[in-house]
Amino acid sequence: MNTDVFAVHESNVRRYGRSFPTVFTKALGATIWDESGKTYIDFLVGSGALNYGHNNPNILGPAIEYLSGGNILSSLDMYTAAKREFIEVFVDSILTPRGFSYKIQFPGPTGTNANEAALALARKYTNRPSVMACTNAFHGMSLGSLAVSGSASTRELGGVARHDVIRVPYDGYPNRAFDSAGYIDYVLGDPGSGIEKPAAIILETVQAEGGMNTASAAWLTEIQRICRKHGIVFIVDDIQAGAGRTGDFFSFEFAKIEPDIVCLSKSLSGSGNPFSLVLIRPDMDVWKPGEHSGTFRGNNLAFVTAGAMCKMWSDSQFTAGVERTAVKLQTQLDRLVAKFPNCIEEKRGRGLMAGLKCRSQALVDRVHDVAFENGLLIESSGPNRDVIKILPPITITDDELDHAIAILDDALQEQANDKCRSV
Ligand SMILES: *Cc1c(COP(=O)(O)O)cnc(C)c1O
Repeated sequence: MNTDVFAVHESNVRRYGRSFPTVFTKALGATIWDESGKTYIDFLVGSGALNYGHNNPNILGPAIEYLSGGNILSSLDMYTAAKREFIEVFVDSILTPRGFSYKIQFPGPTGTNANEAALALARKYTNRPSVMACTNAFHGMSLGSLAVSGSASTRELGGVARHDVIRVPYDGYPNRAFDSAGYIDYVLGDPGSGIEKPAAIILETVQAEGGMNTASAAWLTEIQRICRKHGIVFIVDDIQAGAGRTGDFFSFEFAKIEPDIVCLSKSLSGSGNPFSLVLIRPDMDVWKPGEHSGTFRGNNLAFVTAGAMCKMWSDSQFTAGVERTAVKLQTQLDRLVAKFPNCIEEKRGRGLMAGLKCRSQALVDRVHDVAFENGLLIESSGPNRDVIKILPPITITDDELDHAIAILDDALQEQANDKCRSV
């Protein structure tokens, strides 16, 4: 397969092309094809941008119709029929059934655009400069989002100072015995803590890039209580964990919380087309008209596909299928954890957002390579890149899931055999 053009012309920054050294052409559902016709099951799904699988016909159908109908594609934040229909569907299928009455802001199309808007709004609303952010957080590649990210290499990127961020321990950091919510509550209330009151706390309910660390319902509920007690804006970055990934539309539904601000992107368009939004508690919507902007706030093709995706959440057969698939995945992963104690330390994540914390990065790298060879795309995550990240499309078929798990099982078996031999 000819990959010369990438090696010669594309920046050294390229990453996934190196770890999956082939040239992809077509995709459908959980399966992608490369130029030689070899198929792979996709457990990477664009880092969570393709929760509904590749080229989902329920989502692409309306898009093809829209494209061939001479309809408007780009419109800043003007009113369009496609945007009106998306808002109506989003309110009817997603917000209202959950009892939410958020205002909707359309920022630029990427996740980090949504986080920047959320952070800016929280700072404006409270008139405070700093925000609390968690250990191992990942929030994106623009300056405000970089500042609140946890990883040292991410924070150093760009070479400029990241002011006004207070790092706090995530649930389970540094270990399960530590009461991180209690710590946050204490330092906020103690005039001697040396920690000023922040505008907001921003967090992910499952830290995907940070190693699939998972916050408990009790911790999230406690963080919400602390935010309300101290008058701090509670922002959930649901960019990767939301839009169905954990089995519910929002990743925090299981905790029965209602964050003040929610950021969505990645799978929000249902199609891999860039699209993001910020949900704002109505009384916090203190933006002046035009105060926050972005050229690509009006991605009408994304309005169409996102609307088609949101409608699926009103279909009980669809939601029951997602729930069943999540249970099946978790059961299979429990089996792998029990089968390979020498390779896997623990299972992490929730729903269809799972991780296998392994004994070493080298082991994960080998599993990755063997799986790729045998037709499965997986990614690693975590500060030490020793967690196998498992993100199947939430619409994956039983056959595809069984096939993928069998490949993973074989790849782990090979490592387990190696280990035995070397002992
Ligand atoms: C991917 C991601 C972002 C950044 O989104 P981009 O579209 O890459 O800017 C922010 N937060 C989380 C949790 C993410 O997974």
